[in-house]
Amino acid sequence: MSFYTQFSRHVSAPAMDLLRNTRTMARLRELEQSQWWPRERLEELQSQRLTRLIAHAYAHVPYYRRVMDERGILPQDVHTAADLRKLPVLTRELIRLNFENLLADNIPRSRLWKASTGGSTGTPLVFCTTSEDQRNRGFARGIRAMEYAGIQLGERRILIRVARHHTASRAKLLHRLSRRVERVVEIDSRNITTTSLPSIIALLREPDMRCLTGYPSAVAFIAAWISESGLTPPEVDWVVTGGEQLFEHQRQKIRDVFHVEPYSKYSCQEVFEIAMECDAHTGLHVAMEDIVLEVADGRDAPLGPGCEGRVLLTNLHNYGMPLIRYENGDSGSLIAESCPCGRALPLLSYVVGRRFDMIHTPSGRHITGSNLGTNRLAWFPVLQFQFVQEDLDRLVVRIVPRDGTSATELDDMRTRIPLLFNEVVGDDMRVEVEFHDHIELTSGGKHLLVISKVDPDSWLKRETP
Ligand SMILES: [Zn+2]
Repeated sequence: MSFYTQFSRHVSAPAMDLLRNTRTMARLRELEQSQWWPRERLEELQSQRLTRLIAHAYAHVPYYRRVMDERGILPQDVHTAADLRKLPVLTRELIRLNFENLLADNIPRSRLWKASTGGSTGTPLVFCTTSEDQRNRGFARGIRAMEYAGIQLGERRILIRVARHHTASRAKLLHRLSRRVERVVEIDSRNITTTSLPSIIALLREPDMRCLTGYPSAVAFIAAWISESGLTPPEVDWVVTGGEQLFEHQRQKIRDVFHVEPYSKYSCQEVFEIAMECDAHTGLHVAMEDIVLEVADGRDAPLGPGCEGRVLLTNLHNYGMPLIRYENGDSGSLIAESCPCGRALPLLSYVVGRRFDMIHTPSGRHITGSNLGTNRLAWFPVLQFQFVQEDLDRLVVRIVPRDGTSATELDDMRTRIPLLFNEVVGDDMRVEVEFHDHIELTSGGKHLLVISKVDPDSWLKRETP
Protein backbone atom coordinates (compact mmCIF):
# COMPACT_ATOMS: atom_id res chain seq x y z
CA MET A 1 0.00 0.00 0.00
CA SER A 2 1.29 3.44 -0.88
CA PHE A 3 1.21 6.46 1.39
CA TYR A 4 -1.84 7.76 -0.46
CA THR A 5 -3.85 4.57 -0.21
CA GLN A 6 -3.03 4.33 3.52
CA PHE A 7 -3.95 7.97 3.98
CA SER A 8 -7.22 7.60 2.06
CA ARG A 9 -8.22 4.50 3.94
CA HIS A 10 -7.39 5.67 7.44
CA VAL A 11 -7.69 9.45 7.33
CA SER A 12 -9.51 11.06 4.44
CA ALA A 13 -12.25 8.49 3.77
CA PRO A 14 -13.26 8.31 7.48
CA ALA A 15 -13.22 12.12 7.51
CA MET A 16 -15.56 12.12 4.49
CA ASP A 17 -17.90 9.83 6.41
CA LEU A 18 -17.99 12.34 9.27
CA LEU A 19 -18.57 15.26 6.92
CA ARG A 20 -21.29 13.51 4.98
CA ASN A 21 -22.79 11.79 7.99
CA THR A 22 -22.39 8.40 6.31
CA ARG A 23 -21.04 4.99 7.31
CA THR A 24 -19.44 3.89 4.07
CA MET A 25 -16.16 2.71 5.62
CA ALA A 26 -17.94 0.63 8.28
CA ARG A 27 -20.04 -1.03 5.55
CA LEU A 28 -16.90 -1.60 3.51
CA ARG A 29 -15.21 -3.42 6.41
CA GLU A 30 -18.26 -5.71 6.69
CA LEU A 31 -18.16 -6.45 2.97
CA GLU A 32 -14.43 -7.12 3.04
CA GLN A 33 -15.08 -9.81 5.65
CA SER A 34 -18.19 -11.37 4.16
CA GLN A 35 -16.70 -11.82 0.67
CA TRP A 36 -14.69 -14.76 2.06
CA TRP A 37 -17.57 -16.42 3.89
CA PRO A 38 -18.78 -19.84 2.77
CA ARG A 39 -21.92 -19.84 0.61
CA GLU A 40 -24.17 -21.14 3.44
CA ARG A 41 -23.24 -18.23 5.70
CA LEU A 42 -23.80 -15.75 2.86
CA GLU A 43 -27.19 -17.29 2.15
CA GLU A 44 -28.09 -17.01 5.82
CA LEU A 45 -27.24 -13.29 5.83
CA GLN A 46 -29.13 -12.75 2.58
CA SER A 47 -32.19 -14.55 3.97
CA GLN A 48 -32.15 -12.47 7.17
CA ARG A 49 -32.04 -9.27 5.16
CA LEU A 50 -34.70 -10.45 2.74
CA THR A 51 -37.04 -11.47 5.57
CA ARG A 52 -36.67 -8.00 7.11
CA LEU A 53 -37.26 -6.26 3.80
CA ILE A 54 -40.39 -8.29 3.01
CA ALA A 55 -41.82 -7.64 6.49
CA HIS A 56 -41.15 -3.91 6.02
CA ALA A 57 -42.68 -3.92 2.53
CA TYR A 58 -45.83 -5.66 3.78
CA ALA A 59 -46.22 -3.36 6.79
CA HIS A 60 -45.31 -0.04 5.19
CA VAL A 61 -45.52 -0.16 1.40
CA PRO A 62 -49.13 -0.10 0.12
CA TYR A 63 -48.22 -1.63 -3.26
CA TYR A 64 -46.64 -4.71 -1.70
CA ARG A 65 -49.38 -5.09 0.88
CA ARG A 66 -51.89 -5.18 -1.98
CA VAL A 67 -50.02 -7.61 -4.29
CA MET A 68 -49.26 -9.95 -1.38
CA ASP A 69 -52.87 -9.87 -0.14
CA GLU A 70 -54.13 -10.53 -3.68
CA ARG A 71 -51.91 -13.62 -3.87
CA GLY A 72 -52.63 -14.76 -0.31
CA ILE A 73 -48.95 -14.41 0.64
CA LEU A 74 -47.89 -13.48 4.16
CA PRO A 75 -44.47 -12.02 4.98
CA GLN A 76 -43.48 -15.29 6.68
CA ASP A 77 -43.91 -17.08 3.33
CA VAL A 78 -40.89 -15.30 1.85
CA HIS A 79 -37.56 -16.00 3.56
CA THR A 80 -35.11 -17.14 0.95
CA ALA A 81 -34.13 -16.11 -2.56
CA ALA A 82 -36.01 -19.18 -3.83
CA ASP A 83 -39.22 -17.94 -2.15
CA LEU A 84 -39.11 -14.73 -4.19
CA ARG A 85 -40.80 -16.47 -7.11
CA LYS A 86 -44.06 -16.22 -5.14
CA LEU A 87 -43.94 -12.45 -5.72
CA PRO A 88 -44.61 -10.74 -9.04
CA VAL A 89 -41.96 -9.07 -11.15
CA LEU A 90 -41.71 -5.29 -10.79
CA THR A 91 -41.37 -3.61 -14.16
CA ARG A 92 -40.54 -0.01 -14.94
CA GLU A 93 -44.10 0.50 -16.10
CA LEU A 94 -45.43 -0.81 -12.76
CA ILE A 95 -43.14 1.60 -10.90
CA ARG A 96 -44.47 4.46 -12.97
CA LEU A 97 -48.11 3.48 -12.42
CA ASN A 98 -47.70 2.80 -8.67
CA PHE A 99 -45.08 5.39 -7.80
CA GLU A 100 -46.73 6.80 -4.67
CA ASN A 101 -47.85 3.38 -3.45
CA LEU A 102 -44.31 2.06 -3.69
CA LEU A 103 -43.01 4.60 -1.18
CA ALA A 104 -42.74 3.43 2.43
CA ASP A 105 -45.19 5.27 4.69
CA ASN A 106 -42.82 5.26 7.68
CA ILE A 107 -39.94 7.09 6.00
CA PRO A 108 -40.24 10.89 5.77
CA ARG A 109 -40.28 12.13 2.17
CA SER A 110 -37.43 14.49 3.06
CA ARG A 111 -35.18 11.45 3.56
CA LEU A 112 -35.91 10.02 0.12
CA TRP A 113 -33.75 10.81 -2.88
CA LYS A 114 -35.53 11.09 -6.16
CA ALA A 115 -33.44 10.04 -9.13
CA SER A 116 -34.03 9.32 -12.78
CA THR A 117 -32.49 7.01 -15.31
CA GLY A 118 -32.79 6.45 -19.02
CA GLY A 119 -31.20 3.07 -18.42
CA SER A 120 -30.12 0.62 -21.03
CA THR A 121 -33.60 -0.33 -22.13
CA GLY A 122 -34.88 2.85 -23.66
CA THR A 123 -37.64 3.16 -21.06
CA PRO A 124 -37.12 6.18 -18.81
CA LEU A 125 -37.75 5.88 -15.10
CA VAL A 126 -38.01 8.05 -12.00
CA PHE A 127 -37.35 6.18 -8.74
CA CYS A 128 -36.46 6.82 -5.09
CA THR A 129 -33.66 5.64 -2.87
CA THR A 130 -32.06 6.54 0.48
CA SER A 131 -28.67 7.63 1.75
CA GLU A 132 -28.20 4.29 3.57
CA ASP A 133 -28.84 2.43 0.32
CA GLN A 134 -26.67 4.48 -2.01
CA ARG A 135 -23.97 6.17 0.06
CA ASN A 136 -23.39 3.55 2.71
CA ARG A 137 -24.09 0.22 1.03
CA GLY A 138 -23.73 1.23 -2.62
CA PHE A 139 -20.49 3.22 -2.26
CA ALA A 140 -19.01 0.44 -0.10
CA ARG A 141 -19.83 -2.16 -2.78
CA GLY A 142 -18.18 0.13 -5.33
CA ILE A 143 -14.96 0.34 -3.30
CA ARG A 144 -14.95 -3.43 -2.72
CA ALA A 145 -15.47 -4.01 -6.43
CA MET A 146 -12.27 -2.09 -7.17
CA GLU A 147 -10.45 -4.08 -4.49
CA TYR A 148 -11.26 -7.28 -6.40
CA ALA A 149 -8.90 -5.96 -9.07
CA GLY A 150 -6.33 -5.02 -6.43
CA ILE A 151 -7.11 -1.29 -6.61
CA GLN A 152 -7.12 0.29 -3.16
CA LEU A 153 -9.05 3.39 -2.20
CA GLY A 154 -6.79 6.38 -2.97
CA GLU A 155 -5.06 4.77 -5.97
CA ARG A 156 -4.96 7.58 -8.52
CA ARG A 157 -7.19 6.82 -11.50
CA ILE A 158 -9.02 8.22 -14.47
CA LEU A 159 -12.76 7.74 -14.50
CA ILE A 160 -14.58 8.26 -17.78
CA ARG A 161 -18.26 8.75 -17.26
CA VAL A 162 -21.05 11.11 -17.95
CA ALA A 163 -20.69 14.01 -15.51
CA ARG A 164 -23.38 14.16 -12.87
CA HIS A 165 -25.08 17.44 -12.27
CA HIS A 166 -25.53 18.38 -8.66
CA THR A 167 -27.92 21.24 -8.25
CA ALA A 168 -27.18 21.91 -4.59
CA SER A 169 -23.83 23.58 -3.98
CA ARG A 170 -23.19 21.44 -0.87
CA ALA A 171 -23.69 18.25 -2.91
CA LYS A 172 -21.37 19.61 -5.58
CA LEU A 173 -18.72 20.43 -3.00
CA LEU A 174 -18.99 17.03 -1.31
CA HIS A 175 -18.73 15.28 -4.68
CA ARG A 176 -15.56 17.22 -5.54
CA LEU A 177 -14.09 16.53 -2.12
CA SER A 178 -14.85 12.84 -2.35
CA ARG A 179 -13.19 12.65 -5.79
CA ARG A 180 -10.15 14.42 -4.31
CA VAL A 181 -10.05 11.90 -1.45
CA GLU A 182 -10.32 8.99 -3.84
CA ARG A 183 -7.82 10.69 -6.19
CA VAL A 184 -10.16 10.17 -9.10
CA VAL A 185 -9.76 12.37 -12.16
CA GLU A 186 -13.18 12.46 -13.75
CA ILE A 187 -13.44 12.96 -17.50
CA ASP A 188 -16.82 13.59 -19.05
CA SER A 189 -17.21 10.90 -21.67
CA ARG A 190 -19.06 13.36 -23.90
CA ASN A 191 -15.84 15.35 -24.20
CA ILE A 192 -13.68 12.58 -25.61
CA THR A 193 -12.69 13.96 -28.97
CA THR A 194 -9.65 13.68 -31.19
CA THR A 195 -8.73 17.11 -29.79
CA SER A 196 -8.99 16.07 -26.15
CA LEU A 197 -7.49 12.57 -26.56
CA PRO A 198 -3.82 13.70 -26.50
CA SER A 199 -4.31 15.32 -23.10
CA ILE A 200 -6.03 12.18 -21.77
CA ILE A 201 -3.10 10.06 -23.00
CA ALA A 202 -0.66 12.53 -21.40
CA LEU A 203 -2.55 12.17 -18.11
CA LEU A 204 -2.27 8.39 -18.42
CA ARG A 205 1.50 8.75 -18.86
CA GLU A 206 1.92 10.50 -15.49
CA PRO A 207 4.02 8.23 -13.26
CA ASP A 208 1.40 7.66 -10.55
CA MET A 209 -1.53 7.23 -12.95
CA ARG A 210 -1.80 3.48 -13.38
CA CYS A 211 -5.48 2.93 -13.66
CA LEU A 212 -8.07 3.66 -16.35
CA THR A 213 -11.75 3.13 -15.59
CA GLY A 214 -14.96 3.96 -17.42
CA TYR A 215 -17.42 2.91 -20.09
CA PRO A 216 -15.98 0.06 -22.20
CA SER A 217 -16.95 1.79 -25.45
CA ALA A 218 -14.99 4.89 -24.39
CA VAL A 219 -11.98 2.93 -23.07
CA ALA A 220 -11.87 0.74 -26.20
CA PHE A 221 -12.18 3.87 -28.30
CA ILE A 222 -9.13 5.39 -26.57
CA ALA A 223 -7.25 2.13 -27.15
CA ALA A 224 -8.26 2.10 -30.82
CA TRP A 225 -7.17 5.70 -31.24
CA ILE A 226 -3.76 4.97 -29.68
CA SER A 227 -3.19 2.07 -32.04
CA GLU A 228 -4.47 3.97 -35.10
CA SER A 229 -2.19 6.89 -34.29
CA GLY A 230 0.86 4.65 -33.90
CA LEU A 231 1.56 6.05 -30.42
CA THR A 232 3.40 4.09 -27.75
CA PRO A 233 0.64 3.04 -25.34
CA PRO A 234 0.86 4.45 -21.81
CA GLU A 235 1.76 1.88 -19.15
CA VAL A 236 -1.26 1.06 -17.05
CA ASP A 237 -1.71 -1.63 -14.41
CA TRP A 238 -5.49 -1.78 -14.44
CA VAL A 239 -8.38 -1.21 -16.78
CA VAL A 240 -11.84 -1.47 -15.22
CA THR A 241 -14.94 -1.02 -17.33
CA GLY A 242 -18.53 -0.52 -16.23
CA GLY A 243 -21.86 1.01 -17.16
CA GLU A 244 -22.17 -1.09 -20.31
CA GLN A 245 -21.45 -4.62 -21.38
CA LEU A 246 -17.77 -5.22 -22.16
CA PHE A 247 -17.72 -6.97 -25.53
CA GLU A 248 -15.05 -9.45 -26.52
CA HIS A 249 -13.79 -7.22 -29.34
CA GLN A 250 -13.37 -4.38 -26.83
CA ARG A 251 -11.62 -6.70 -24.35
CA GLN A 252 -9.27 -7.76 -27.13
CA LYS A 253 -8.52 -4.17 -28.12
CA ILE A 254 -7.74 -3.27 -24.50
CA ARG A 255 -5.47 -6.33 -24.14
CA ASP A 256 -3.66 -5.54 -27.41
CA VAL A 257 -3.00 -1.92 -26.58
CA PHE A 258 -2.57 -1.81 -22.79
CA HIS A 259 -1.32 -5.40 -22.27
CA VAL A 260 -3.62 -5.97 -19.31
CA GLU A 261 -6.72 -8.09 -18.85
CA PRO A 262 -9.62 -5.69 -18.22
CA TYR A 263 -12.05 -6.09 -15.32
CA SER A 264 -15.74 -5.73 -16.01
CA LYS A 265 -18.15 -4.28 -13.47
CA TYR A 266 -21.94 -4.53 -13.61
CA SER A 267 -24.17 -1.89 -12.09
CA CYS A 268 -27.35 0.04 -12.76
CA GLN A 269 -28.43 3.36 -11.35
CA GLU A 270 -31.51 1.97 -9.61
CA VAL A 271 -29.61 -0.68 -7.62
CA PHE A 272 -26.06 0.72 -7.86
CA GLU A 273 -23.09 -1.72 -7.85
CA ILE A 274 -24.19 -5.28 -8.54
CA ALA A 275 -21.32 -7.52 -9.63
CA MET A 276 -17.61 -7.35 -10.40
CA GLU A 277 -14.94 -9.53 -11.95
CA CYS A 278 -12.08 -10.77 -9.73
CA ASP A 279 -8.50 -11.48 -10.77
CA ALA A 280 -9.38 -15.06 -11.72
CA HIS A 281 -11.47 -13.58 -14.58
CA THR A 282 -14.06 -16.36 -14.52
CA GLY A 283 -17.14 -14.12 -14.37
CA LEU A 284 -18.61 -11.35 -12.22
CA HIS A 285 -19.18 -11.98 -8.50
CA VAL A 286 -22.65 -10.86 -7.45
CA ALA A 287 -22.71 -8.88 -4.17
CA MET A 288 -25.29 -11.27 -2.72
CA GLU A 289 -25.02 -9.76 0.76
CA ASP A 290 -26.94 -6.72 -0.53
CA ILE A 291 -28.71 -7.92 -3.66
CA VAL A 292 -30.67 -10.96 -4.75
CA LEU A 293 -30.04 -11.45 -8.46
CA GLU A 294 -32.33 -13.85 -10.29
CA VAL A 295 -32.24 -14.82 -13.93
CA ALA A 296 -35.79 -15.54 -15.02
CA ASP A 297 -37.58 -16.94 -18.05
CA GLY A 298 -40.51 -15.37 -19.88
CA ARG A 299 -42.93 -16.59 -17.19
CA ASP A 300 -40.96 -15.03 -14.31
CA ALA A 301 -39.62 -18.39 -13.10
CA PRO A 302 -35.95 -18.48 -12.04
CA LEU A 303 -33.54 -20.18 -14.44
CA GLY A 304 -30.54 -22.25 -13.45
CA PRO A 305 -26.90 -21.56 -14.34
CA GLY A 306 -26.04 -21.54 -18.02
CA CYS A 307 -29.46 -20.32 -19.15
CA GLU A 308 -29.74 -16.77 -20.41
CA GLY A 309 -32.76 -14.83 -19.21
CA ARG A 310 -34.09 -11.57 -17.78
CA VAL A 311 -32.17 -10.12 -14.85
CA LEU A 312 -34.40 -9.53 -11.78
CA LEU A 313 -32.95 -7.59 -8.87
CA THR A 314 -34.02 -7.34 -5.26
CA ASN A 315 -32.18 -4.57 -3.47
CA LEU A 316 -32.03 -5.53 0.21
CA HIS A 317 -31.34 -2.00 1.48
CA ASN A 318 -33.66 0.41 -0.31
CA TYR A 319 -36.33 0.77 2.38
CA GLY A 320 -37.64 4.03 0.90
CA MET A 321 -38.91 2.46 -2.33
CA PRO A 322 -38.35 -1.28 -2.09
CA LEU A 323 -37.45 -2.78 -5.46
CA ILE A 324 -38.31 -6.47 -5.23
CA ARG A 325 -37.79 -8.66 -8.32
CA TYR A 326 -37.15 -5.49 -10.27
CA GLU A 327 -36.65 -6.06 -13.98
CA ASN A 328 -34.05 -3.55 -15.16
CA GLY A 329 -34.26 -4.71 -18.76
CA ASP A 330 -30.87 -6.46 -18.91
CA SER A 331 -30.33 -10.07 -19.80
CA GLY A 332 -27.68 -12.37 -18.39
CA SER A 333 -26.88 -15.85 -17.13
CA LEU A 334 -25.39 -17.36 -13.99
CA ILE A 335 -22.34 -19.63 -13.91
CA ALA A 336 -22.43 -22.88 -11.92
CA GLU A 337 -18.68 -23.29 -11.38
CA SER A 338 -17.02 -21.95 -8.27
CA CYS A 339 -14.24 -19.39 -8.65
CA PRO A 340 -10.61 -20.28 -7.91
CA CYS A 341 -10.21 -16.98 -6.03
CA GLY A 342 -12.02 -18.52 -3.06
CA ARG A 343 -15.01 -16.18 -2.98
CA ALA A 344 -18.29 -18.08 -2.76
CA LEU A 345 -20.31 -15.14 -4.11
CA PRO A 346 -22.25 -16.37 -7.16
CA LEU A 347 -20.84 -15.73 -10.61
CA LEU A 348 -22.58 -13.97 -13.44
CA SER A 349 -21.38 -14.48 -16.99
CA TYR A 350 -19.78 -11.61 -18.89
CA VAL A 351 -22.67 -11.35 -21.27
CA VAL A 352 -24.79 -9.15 -19.11
CA GLY A 353 -26.46 -5.90 -20.07
CA ARG A 354 -27.35 -4.47 -23.41
CA ARG A 355 -25.53 -3.21 -26.37
CA PHE A 356 -24.76 0.45 -26.79
CA ASP A 357 -23.68 1.94 -30.07
CA MET A 358 -21.87 5.25 -30.38
CA ILE A 359 -22.85 8.55 -31.91
CA HIS A 360 -20.08 10.35 -33.77
CA THR A 361 -20.70 14.08 -34.04
CA PRO A 362 -19.37 16.49 -36.71
CA SER A 363 -17.36 18.31 -34.00
CA GLY A 364 -15.54 15.07 -33.23
CA ARG A 365 -17.32 13.85 -30.11
CA HIS A 366 -18.08 10.19 -29.58
CA ILE A 367 -21.11 9.67 -27.40
CA THR A 368 -22.38 6.31 -26.18
CA GLY A 369 -25.96 5.59 -25.18
CA SER A 370 -25.04 5.86 -21.51
CA ASN A 371 -23.67 9.37 -22.07
CA LEU A 372 -26.66 10.78 -23.83
CA GLY A 373 -28.35 11.94 -20.66
CA THR A 374 -31.44 9.92 -21.51
CA ASN A 375 -32.81 10.55 -18.01
CA ARG A 376 -34.02 13.88 -19.48
CA LEU A 377 -36.77 11.87 -21.16
CA ALA A 378 -38.09 10.61 -17.82
CA TRP A 379 -39.90 13.93 -17.35
CA PHE A 380 -41.96 13.54 -20.56
CA PRO A 381 -44.82 11.12 -21.37
CA VAL A 382 -42.39 8.72 -23.08
CA LEU A 383 -42.93 4.98 -23.03
CA GLN A 384 -39.88 3.99 -25.04
CA PHE A 385 -37.19 5.65 -27.08
CA GLN A 386 -34.31 5.04 -29.40
CA PHE A 387 -31.63 7.30 -30.90
CA VAL A 388 -30.79 6.87 -34.56
CA GLN A 389 -27.91 8.72 -36.11
CA GLU A 390 -29.05 8.94 -39.73
CA ASP A 391 -26.11 11.00 -40.90
CA LEU A 392 -23.06 12.68 -39.44
CA ASP A 393 -25.09 15.81 -38.70
CA ARG A 394 -28.55 14.33 -38.12
CA LEU A 395 -29.86 12.57 -35.04
CA VAL A 396 -33.40 11.24 -34.79
CA VAL A 397 -35.01 10.57 -31.41
CA ARG A 398 -37.66 7.91 -31.95
CA ILE A 399 -40.30 8.13 -29.28
CA VAL A 400 -43.21 5.89 -28.39
CA PRO A 401 -45.52 8.23 -26.43
CA ARG A 402 -47.62 6.93 -23.58
CA ASP A 403 -51.26 6.19 -24.24
CA GLY A 404 -53.39 9.28 -23.92
CA THR A 405 -50.62 11.77 -24.68
CA SER A 406 -52.31 14.94 -25.90
CA ALA A 407 -51.49 16.84 -29.10
CA THR A 408 -50.15 19.70 -26.96
CA GLU A 409 -47.80 17.31 -25.18
CA LEU A 410 -46.61 15.93 -28.53
CA ASP A 411 -45.92 19.46 -29.76
CA ASP A 412 -44.10 20.25 -26.55
CA MET A 413 -41.87 17.19 -26.98
CA ARG A 414 -41.21 18.06 -30.61
CA THR A 415 -39.96 21.49 -29.54
CA ARG A 416 -38.19 20.83 -26.26
CA ILE A 417 -36.53 17.46 -26.74
CA PRO A 418 -34.26 18.57 -29.62
CA LEU A 419 -33.07 21.53 -27.51
CA LEU A 420 -32.27 19.24 -24.58
CA PHE A 421 -30.23 16.87 -26.71
CA ASN A 422 -28.49 19.63 -28.64
CA GLU A 423 -26.91 20.44 -25.27
CA VAL A 424 -25.42 16.94 -25.34
CA VAL A 425 -24.43 16.37 -28.95
CA GLY A 426 -23.69 19.99 -29.87
CA ASP A 427 -25.40 22.52 -32.09
CA ASP A 428 -23.79 21.20 -35.24
CA MET A 429 -26.17 18.24 -35.22
CA ARG A 430 -29.79 18.52 -36.21
CA VAL A 431 -31.92 16.71 -33.63
CA GLU A 432 -35.39 15.63 -34.70
CA VAL A 433 -38.20 13.88 -32.86
CA GLU A 434 -40.16 11.11 -34.55
CA PHE A 435 -43.20 9.48 -32.99
CA HIS A 436 -43.68 5.73 -33.40
CA ASP A 437 -46.18 3.22 -32.07
CA HIS A 438 -43.42 0.70 -31.34
CA ILE A 439 -39.67 0.27 -31.64
CA GLU A 440 -38.28 -2.58 -33.70
CA LEU A 441 -36.19 -5.14 -31.82
CA THR A 442 -33.09 -6.76 -33.28
CA SER A 443 -33.32 -10.26 -34.76
CA GLY A 444 -32.02 -11.45 -31.36
CA GLY A 445 -35.00 -9.78 -29.67
CA LYS A 446 -32.98 -6.97 -28.12
CA HIS A 447 -33.77 -3.33 -27.96
CA LEU A 448 -30.99 -1.11 -29.25
CA LEU A 449 -30.76 2.22 -27.50
CA VAL A 450 -28.53 3.80 -30.11
CA ILE A 451 -28.17 2.98 -33.78
CA SER A 452 -25.53 4.83 -35.73
CA LYS A 453 -25.60 4.64 -39.49
CA VAL A 454 -22.23 6.42 -39.63
CA ASP A 455 -19.36 3.99 -40.10
CA PRO A 456 -17.09 4.56 -37.06
CA ASP A 457 -14.02 3.05 -38.71
CA SER A 458 -14.10 5.36 -41.69
CA TRP A 459 -14.80 8.25 -39.35
CA LEU A 460 -11.83 7.37 -37.14
CA LYS A 461 -9.46 6.93 -40.11
CA ARG A 462 -10.56 10.25 -41.52
CA GLU A 463 -9.83 12.06 -38.26
CA THR A 464 -6.68 10.29 -37.11
CA PRO A 465 -3.54 12.13 -38.13
ZN1 LIG B 1 -13.36 -14.96 -8.09
